[in-house]
Amino acid sequence: MPRKEPPYGLRWGNPRVVNARDMPVRLVVTDMDNTMYSWVDYIVPAMEALVAAVCQATGFPRIKVVQSLKTVYSKYESNEYPFALQESTIYAEFPEFGSFDKLIIEPARMAFAEARKKYMKPYKGVISTLEALKERKIPVVALTDAPRNPAEQRAKRMGFDQFLGSLYTLPGFQLPASPEGQTLVAPDILQKEERGLYRAACDVIELPRDYEKPNPRGLLQICQTWSVDPAEVLVIGDSLKKDIGVAREVGAIDCWAEYGTYVSLEYRERLDIISAASVTRRHAASVYESGQLPLKATHVMSSFSQILDVIDEAR
Ligand SMILES: [Mg+2]
Repeated sequence: MPRKEPPYGLRWGNPRVVNARDMPVRLVVTDMDNTMYSWVDYIVPAMEALVAAVCQATGFPRIKVVQSLKTVYSKYESNEYPFALQESTIYAEFPEFGSFDKLIIEPARMAFAEARKKYMKPYKGVISTLEALKERKIPVVALTDAPRNPAEQRAKRMGFDQFLGSLYTLPGFQLPASPEGQTLVAPDILQKEERGLYRAACDVIELPRDYEKPNPRGLLQICQTWSVDPAEVLVIGDSLKKDIGVAREVGAIDCWAEYGTYVSLEYRERLDIISAASVTRRHAASVYESGQLPLKATHVMSSFSQILDVIDEAR
């Protein structure tokens, strides 16, 4: 079958006819949220803990806190925007940063962090599969639609940054400032940022905002940087529209992480309360893909480790 011309003016280095099944896998490109770990299983309890801490510190009703935060999260299209409280209408009622930081932000951050520590874990088999790929000398690159800061943090906290050749994200957040120019971030966070304590072990590349999947430009950039033909790339992700879509677009081997789409009705309801639909769609697009997409994946995974079988098959 003649190879499809690459979109966006990019050119493959070697114009020949390829068949994905005849070619070994030379690079794995993985999605992160709900592919390497359950984003939903951690964000729901962590956000709920944060909201409860703010309610306790302010005496405000839950609805007021939830709606105020949701407005900021919608603006940034992420409910991991770490400076949401100081940008929310809640802060407008306490316009002095020092005491607001100590009495409201700090307990909220601690509550979020505690829940995150408890519930944010790689799926079973993720780390051992990354170790196996390292042994086979097949590099792994992560391509996520999360902003840089939380994506980098998650890779570092779960310890899989050391297994990644690089991490491609959407643009990171700027630090918030008051209209007078005062930085609205606690001094210890600024110091940690300056000392590089939030940096992952791998290279982190911020892609332009409009490279969000299923735009294939991020994946094409990765193929170019790693000098691999898209047909030699295995792409895994939980979203048919985004991850399988992007793999199909460039002619890579697509593997659907179907296991990442299993979210209970109860968690969906709790997520809807704390997370705006636009935000959930960004992080966990598959939550809203109710099996009605016309797209069918080539390989369907019930665990991350099954990519090793697909790689063996392709050899
Ligand atoms: Mg995902």
